[in-house]
Amino acid sequence: MSDTHASDTAVRAITHHIGGKAQPGTSGRIGDVFNPATGKVQARVPLASTDEVGAAVAAARAAFPAWAETPALKRARILFKFKELLDKHADELAEIITREHGKVLSDAKGEVTRGIEVVEFACAAPQLLKGQYSEQIGGGIDNWSMRQPLGVAAGITPFNFPMMVPCWMFPVALACGNTFVLKPSERDPSCAIRLAELLKEAGLPDGVFNVVHGDKEAVDALLEHPEVDSISFVGSTPIAEYIYSQGAARGKRVQALGGAKNHLVVMPDADLDLAVDALIGAGYGSAGERCMAISVAVAVGHIADELVERLAPRVRALTIKNGLESDAEMGPLVTAAHKAKVEGYIDAGVEGGAKLVVDGRGHKVQGHEEGFFIGGTLFDDVKPEMKIYKEEIFGPVLSIVRVPDFASAVDLINAHEMGNGVACFTSDGGVARAFARQIQVGMVGINVPIPVPMAWHSFGGWKRSLFGDHHAYGEEGVRFYTRYKSVMQRWPDSISKGAEFTMPVAK
Ligand code: NAD
Repeated sequence: MSDTHASDTAVRAITHHIGGKAQPGTSGRIGDVFNPATGKVQARVPLASTDEVGAAVAAARAAFPAWAETPALKRARILFKFKELLDKHADELAEIITREHGKVLSDAKGEVTRGIEVVEFACAAPQLLKGQYSEQIGGGIDNWSMRQPLGVAAGITPFNFPMMVPCWMFPVALACGNTFVLKPSERDPSCAIRLAELLKEAGLPDGVFNVVHGDKEAVDALLEHPEVDSISFVGSTPIAEYIYSQGAARGKRVQALGGAKNHLVVMPDADLDLAVDALIGAGYGSAGERCMAISVAVAVGHIADELVERLAPRVRALTIKNGLESDAEMGPLVTAAHKAKVEGYIDAGVEGGAKLVVDGRGHKVQGHEEGFFIGGTLFDDVKPEMKIYKEEIFGPVLSIVRVPDFASAVDLINAHEMGNGVACFTSDGGVARAFARQIQVGMVGINVPIPVPMAWHSFGGWKRSLFGDHHAYGEEGVRFYTRYKSVMQRWPDSISKGAEFTMPVAK
């Protein structure tokens, strides 16, 4: 992303979405949005000023009282309509994602589906917001609880899931009666705008959902704005920690999901065909740009040599192409800067003494020579003290760490500062059970490489992969976006007046 002067707008200009309307940027700062497969700038995104963020927050604040008063059933009906529109436009959304992110189209469709699933979950708003009731806790006294919205919720999201990650946040926030300001990644901002348009078409009142594009200035404006009640963040660990500390210091409710270094343990009794397929898909799918990508294979005991022998030819044979081509297995990285960063990690791995089995540097795709492509890369004999083991690479680079036994595999993973996802491939139920119980990681897969929880469970890591108390979506999401209130009441006898002859319905 490079800042460019606002007058240089030969390509499509993206707008903010504030108060139900497309709003061109006024800050004078814009950023380039690339097509990663061609390396060309395809759009320009406005980078919001503090005032523009203020306008979005003001729109959300103005819309809040009426939206919070709208019965949950009616809010849910708008989300049902939104879900229908998402189904109708799923292919279009997937194509928008592939054109700006680079991931292959089938993967983008999967992302759209996982986003829709959270909307489906949020459609249960009346059920999700139901309180609890205890009668006669004392003579003539009852005690009950309710969950009420916070106010204006903000979401700050990463480039790697421009549909799914925003959908982890706003459907639940809206279902609970909050209004929302989304600050999507400035690298692939178009999907967020399409979501805003579809929400409007579904009948969402203006101002309930707003999108402002931007960089650090826009994020800081949200952090500092006194009318923003909560911040949901997903992105890299240093920024997650910053958002958490700055937001919490200003009394906001914050959930900040950070980076990852996900391990997949291959036990000697694992089904090796299954494990190799899993490592190829989870290591190289989406070019490794997933927070649940597997970046470390932990080979236990004698299985290591055969694992490397089987993986290497599969990594060399990956079909790397423009993600829009139907047979592409892996597309480009998101930007030239990110490609350079990943290649720098490969250099560091070699310098650090790891064995480079497959080298993806310098990979060219015919007809797309300027695209941000990199080949699949495989390292063996990676040690815990190496930079490529300690840090998140976020590219198609898989490291193999060899350990003697199960206990060493668990110790290795538990010592890592990240704790997002993890997997264990084994045929032994006892080992699987011990793994799930002992591992210090938030999301665990047993013979499942990418254990992203379903919409009615909740997504989140441990350790430096999540700052705050609440995981995303599911019941944790409902708790995050509501305040709990307990009411205790006592009444004189009351009689309702007048007769009603029609079936009572929500009014
Ligand atoms: P990023 O941290 O660079 O950016 C995330 C968001 O923060 C963007 O909206 C960006 O504009 C904003 N931002 C960037 N720099 C900032 C700064 N200095 N101050 C304030 N705001 C800033 O992350 P990314 O590169 O877009 O996404 C990749 C990262 O996200 C990886 O680390 C990945 O593991 C992580 N991620 C985590 C999860 C999870 O659930 N834990 C999910 C997806 C991605």
